[in-house]
Amino acid sequence: MTETRPRVAIVGAGPAGAFAAAGLLRARGDAEIDLFERLPTPWGLLRGGVAPDHQEIKRLEDLFDRQTLGRGCRFLGNVEVGVDVSHAEMMRHYTAVIYATGAQTDKALGLPGEDLPGSWAATEFVAWYNGHPDYKDLEFDLSAERAIVVGNGNVATDVARMLALTREELAQTDVADHALEVLAESNVTEIVVLGRRGPAQAAFTNPELLELGEMTDADVFVDPGDVELDPLSRAFIESEAAHTTKKKNVDILTGYAAREPLGKRRRLVLRFLVSPVEILGTDRVEGIRFVHNELVEADDGSIRPRPTDLTEELDCGLVFRSIGYRGTRIPGVPFDEKSCTIPNERGRITGRTGEYTVGWIKRGPTGIIGTNKRDAQETVDAALEDLDSDRLGSPADPDRDSMEALLAERQPDAVSYAGWQAVDRVEREAGEPHGRPRVKLCSFEDLLEAAKDATPAP
Ligand code: NAP
Repeated sequence: MTETRPRVAIVGAGPAGAFAAAGLLRARGDAEIDLFERLPTPWGLLRGGVAPDHQEIKRLEDLFDRQTLGRGCRFLGNVEVGVDVSHAEMMRHYTAVIYATGAQTDKALGLPGEDLPGSWAATEFVAWYNGHPDYKDLEFDLSAERAIVVGNGNVATDVARMLALTREELAQTDVADHALEVLAESNVTEIVVLGRRGPAQAAFTNPELLELGEMTDADVFVDPGDVELDPLSRAFIESEAAHTTKKKNVDILTGYAAREPLGKRRRLVLRFLVSPVEILGTDRVEGIRFVHNELVEADDGSIRPRPTDLTEELDCGLVFRSIGYRGTRIPGVPFDEKSCTIPNERGRITGRTGEYTVGWIKRGPTGIIGTNKRDAQETVDAALEDLDSDRLGSPADPDRDSMEALLAERQPDAVSYAGWQAVDRVEREAGEPHGRPRVKLCSFEDLLEAAKDATPAP
C-alpha cells in the first residue's frame, strides 16, 4: 500500500480524461491529480466536437468541472506532453501517468481529387464550427448548391445537420462566430450522405438519425429501393445478433422512404450502397464519381461492400469525408500503427509500469461520450490495483511544485483552473445578452489573454 499521496498525471482533458480523474478521485480522495491539456481549455470533444445544437450534451461540462477541477484536480492547460514536457520527464514526476489523448486526426479515403479545394475532412469542419483554435482560420466556401458527406456515422449526421440548420437555430448555440456567419449565408440546398453499405449496417445511433427527419428547413429523402434489404441484411436484421439500434435504424429509414416531402428549402438525401471512387474537378471540387456496391459475406462472417460495374456522377462543390477519426503517436509512448491506439491490457500500457491509457487512444474512435465512463473505470481500476499493491514505487521527483517550476521554464503561458474559469466567465457573459450559452474565444491569443485575468491559482 502506497503510504504517500499518489501523484497521477492525466494527459488530455477530454471526456475520457475527465471520467478517469473523477473515478480516481472518488476512490482515492488523497490522490494529487494533474490534468494536462494541449489547449488552453478543458473538455476536449465536448467543447470541440459535440455539435453546437446539442447543448444538452455540452452541459456535461458542469459535471466534469464539479467532479474534477472543482475537487482539487489541478488543470495544466496549454501544455503539450511530448513537446513541452517529455514522457520521460512525466515519469520522473508522477506515480502514474494516464494517456487520454483521443484521436487527433482523420482517416483519408485515398482517392484521386481528395486534395482539391472544397474536399474536406469532416473533422476539420467540426473543429472549425466549434471554434477550435487550430482550425479557426479555415475558409469554407459554401457557395455551391450541393454538398456530399461520405460516411454513415454520427459525425456525418452532425455535418449534415449543421449544413441544414437555419440562422435562427444556429444563433441560439455556441457555434463559433466565424462559422455562424458562413453557415447562415450558405448556399447549400442539397446535402447528400453516402453510405458504402446498406441501411442495416449504418453506424448512426437512433436519436441522431431521427433528428435528420425533424429539421425545420430540410426534408429528408430516402429512395424506397434503398431500404429494400438484400437477403444477407434481411437475415442479419432478423437475427438475434442484430442490435436493436440497427433494427430501429432500418425502421426509421423505411419511414423516411415513405414520406412525402414538405417543400422545405433544403433537401437531405440519404443514399446507400455507394462508394466514392473519384472527386472530380480541375481547380476545385466540381463533382463526385461513385460506384454502386452489393453486399457480400466476408470470411469472418461480416457483411462487406463489393463494387459492381455501375457508376454514377453527381455535381457538387463540397465533399466532407466523415469516415472516422485516427489516433496519433505521443513521443516516448508505445503506439500500434495499425489500430492507431496505444497497446494496452485493460488500460495498462503493454510492457510498461505506471503507464495507462483511456478513451479513443486506448480503444479506437468508437462510442458515444458516455461510453468513456465505463472505459475510464476499467483503467482506473487497473491503476488503483497497482497503487494499492505498491507495484508502482515513488517517482524520482514527487514534489508538486517542481512540475510547476519546470512548466514555468518550458511553457510560461500554461493555463491554470483559475485561468480557465476566467475564460469561461468571459465567454458566458458574452453569450448571455444574446440568449446564447457562450460566445467562444477561438484564438490562442484571445484565450491566453482572457486566462491572464484570473486570480492566481492556489
Ligand atoms: P463511425 O461511427 O465509425 O462511422 C464511420 C462511417 O464511415 C461508417 O459508416 C463507415 O462505414 C464509414 N466508412 C469508413 N471507411 C469508409 C470508406 N473508405 N468509404 C466509405 N465509408 C467509409 O465514425 P464517426 O461518425 O467518425 O463517429 C466516431 C464515434 O463518435 C462514433 O462512435 C459515433 O457514434 C460517436 N459520435 C457520437 C455522436 C453523438 O452521440 N451525437 C456525435 C458524433 C460522433 P462501415 O460501417 O462500412 O465501415
